[in-house]
Amino acid sequence: MGSGKVMTTAVPAKVKYEMVIGLEVHVQLSTRTKLFCSCSTEFGAVPNTNVCPICTGQPGTLPVLNQQALDYAVLTSLALEAQINPRGLSKFDRKQYFYPDLPKNYQISQYDLPLSEHGSLEIEVEGEAPRRIGITRLHMEEDAGKLVHAGAERLSGSAYSMVDFNRAGVPLCEIVSEPDIRTAAEAAAYAEEMRRIVRYLGVCDGNMQEGSMRFDLNISVRPVGETKFGTKVEIKNLNSFNSLQRAVEYEFTRQTGAVENGERIPQETRLWDEATQRTISMRSKEEANDYRYFPEPDLVPIRLTPADLAAYRQKLPQLPAQKRRHYREVFGLSAYDARVLTAERESAEYFERVVSLGVEPKQAANWVNGPVASYLNETRNKINEIKVTPEVLVELLTLINQGMISSRIANDLLPDLFGEGGSPRALVEARGLTQISDQGQLERVVDEVLAENTDSVSAYRGGRTKLLGFFVGQVMKKTAGRAEPQSVNRLLLSKLDQ
Ligand SMILES: [Zn+2]
Repeated sequence: MGSGKVMTTAVPAKVKYEMVIGLEVHVQLSTRTKLFCSCSTEFGAVPNTNVCPICTGQPGTLPVLNQQALDYAVLTSLALEAQINPRGLSKFDRKQYFYPDLPKNYQISQYDLPLSEHGSLEIEVEGEAPRRIGITRLHMEEDAGKLVHAGAERLSGSAYSMVDFNRAGVPLCEIVSEPDIRTAAEAAAYAEEMRRIVRYLGVCDGNMQEGSMRFDLNISVRPVGETKFGTKVEIKNLNSFNSLQRAVEYEFTRQTGAVENGERIPQETRLWDEATQRTISMRSKEEANDYRYFPEPDLVPIRLTPADLAAYRQKLPQLPAQKRRHYREVFGLSAYDARVLTAERESAEYFERVVSLGVEPKQAANWVNGPVASYLNETRNKINEIKVTPEVLVELLTLINQGMISSRIANDLLPDLFGEGGSPRALVEARGLTQISDQGQLERVVDEVLAENTDSVSAYRGGRTKLLGFFVGQVMKKTAGRAEPQSVNRLLLSKLDQ
């Protein structure tokens, strides 16, 4: 040192940031009646017709817990591998705040002893290995009513507001994740997997337009390698996977921009604004409510015995993540096929029935994800209601596998089978569509085709071997698609290569 040389220091590498994301999912349990009264939960009823003294908070009324809602919440907890009542019991609490949509001025929720804790859920992002996201807790609570504002989106600024209590008292499960999520794609995958699970269980219809699932997002940024969390911002009002993903992307850009400019990120609650595709500040954490929780005196705590839990476990169906693994590891399907087939419980069951009737899983996957899925997309039909039942599809595939018809003929028959149903074998026989595999008959057709296309034959022999497809096409044309393709290929090659 000290030689007078100029010391060069490397330009510091641009800091890379990562996100720390936690999600709260509100799942509306699809019971017929509300959580603490017998009012209907039907969506879209005339405002304030599904109400009674209990869900409108009249003095002297008492709540009674809906057993079905508890059953659904327990099943959801078990599906998320959460521990039920890890501290022996769970109880309801009153969360107190004043807002026009809350008739009792408190919401019955669960505070320090939720129904279940310490669960997890497996997500799969395309091209990445499956990953587990921790679940902190799951608790039950009642929904609030709905405010309809005249002349504005929100209470502030509107000329007047109307309240509909039909929703008040509708049963919800709030499921809180650990801050384990790192990307927008993972956040969407988590929300989608949650929707799949509750739909597999039949505890929620997953209808996002009707608000059956809603998401709140907690998000902070930090330099990669940092172990401390940054300041957490909460985003509300997310009601689609798309807005969830967009909100994460928007916040990442906003928060890293602020950090790079040396700004402090305030702890606050923000709203996702669908119209402008931005988040906007709603309130700072300093103004946060103190809910003065205290135990709900009118409801007994929930205790579940090991025998109760064993009985609930019996009711659990195989879940999407288990099915995906089984499809990959036992059926040998691609991760993509496994994901598509298990997207809905009904499609998985349809596929499994086809396989159980003796079709190879790969062939079954190709037909279910191919022609059957296209038909469902075009017609908006449900897979368990179409005329091509698993039995019909298996009969059709068996005709192919026995060499009776080609795949092409099978495909051609599908529109009629989807429209009319019936037996593929009977249809093939009635229309005379059985495959021609008689070698003598095929050879005559091949000879005819070669005699009619002498120019092409010369060209082929001169090196244009791609013309083979043309000759195959001509043979298929003459036989209305019934020629057995392998024999046609073999015969053509033996004659052309002479
Ligand atoms: Zn009621």
